[in-house]
Amino acid sequence: MSWNTARFSFELYPPRTAAAASALPATIDRLAATHPDFISVTYGANGSSRSSSLELLRYILDNTNVSPMAHLTCVGSSHAETNLLIREFLDAGIRSFLAVRGDPPADAAPGETGLGEVRSSAELVQLIHRVQAEREPYSELSVPGLDASAVLSSREHVQIAVAAFPNGHPTSHSVSQDIDTLLAKQAAGANLGITQLFFHPEDYLSFAQKAKDAGVLFPILPGIMPVTSPARLRRMLELSGEDLPSDLAIQLEIEPTEEGQREIGIAWATDFARTLLDGGAPGIHLYTFNQHEAVLAVLERTGLLSAGTTDSLTTEREHA
Ligand code: FAD
Repeated sequence: MSWNTARFSFELYPPRTAAAASALPATIDRLAATHPDFISVTYGANGSSRSSSLELLRYILDNTNVSPMAHLTCVGSSHAETNLLIREFLDAGIRSFLAVRGDPPADAAPGETGLGEVRSSAELVQLIHRVQAEREPYSELSVPGLDASAVLSSREHVQIAVAAFPNGHPTSHSVSQDIDTLLAKQAAGANLGITQLFFHPEDYLSFAQKAKDAGVLFPILPGIMPVTSPARLRRMLELSGEDLPSDLAIQLEIEPTEEGQREIGIAWATDFARTLLDGGAPGIHLYTFNQHEAVLAVLERTGLLSAGTTDSLTTEREHA
């Protein structure tokens, strides 16, 4: 992929405290000013963040020109509940989704999977398309000069992204099972992949090539997070179960200052993004941790920001 056409996007999560909620609009404004393809908002499995996710998505919709992407999960839900959830988000004006299954509760009763009726992301993708089709069976366009209207055959476009796992989903038995799962998501109507965090570029590059060879046609965006402290690195490894990037871990552990650690994380993520883009990644998806400074520094150094945006970031730093 040419660097001129490489794109970027961001991920946020619904704020968990009042202080975090009041800081978020400023972050969203800064992220939106860079004209990302979309800003995605995570969703708590079992609906734990239903209203706070929707509130954040509405904020992005009402206050920026950026398309918000709603993560939705289906784990533990019935068809009827998932149907209602999708309808509620479509009614709010959301047209872009990341359909993930979600993790079943660890304390599911013996013999129970905890999965619910919609058992996989592929089924959720299918259901989003079906609900959208039922909401909008057809559109009409009045015919000028005639008391008549024409039926529009094409419905409003819904983008549906899905999760991809360069090192395999924890419950998957082989990479080929992961690729088969992606093919099932594609058959259900998914049109974008976004990866789990990973720390070795070759993991993504070989996975993306295998997926393409197997017939996955949609772009797969690598998910990247600038890891700016040893504590955050440990947390990320715990959540993702990925292998330790030893060079980064050592650099972060021996650097005594927070500012130095931040610089290490940004420089590391910049090199990482460059290697992925050089290797053919169509763009990058940045996990922001609800903060804009580090991800914007990575984009600026990677050369993905437009000249106008870079100027305004420089001015912002000079006035800080
Ligand atoms: P699926 O695609 O359904 O796959 C799960 C497992 O089941 C895989 O091992 C797959 O191979 C297997 N499988 C799927 N279909 C079949 C089948 N038909 N037959 C046999 N095996 C099958 N979680 C949240 O709760 N909220 C979020 O907002 C969220 N956002 C995420 C964003 C990204 C980019 C990523 C990578 C993950 C996110 N997750 C989120 C985590 C996700 O919910 C978990 O990783 C979950 O365990 C798997 O979700 P999935 O959509 O990949 O599931």
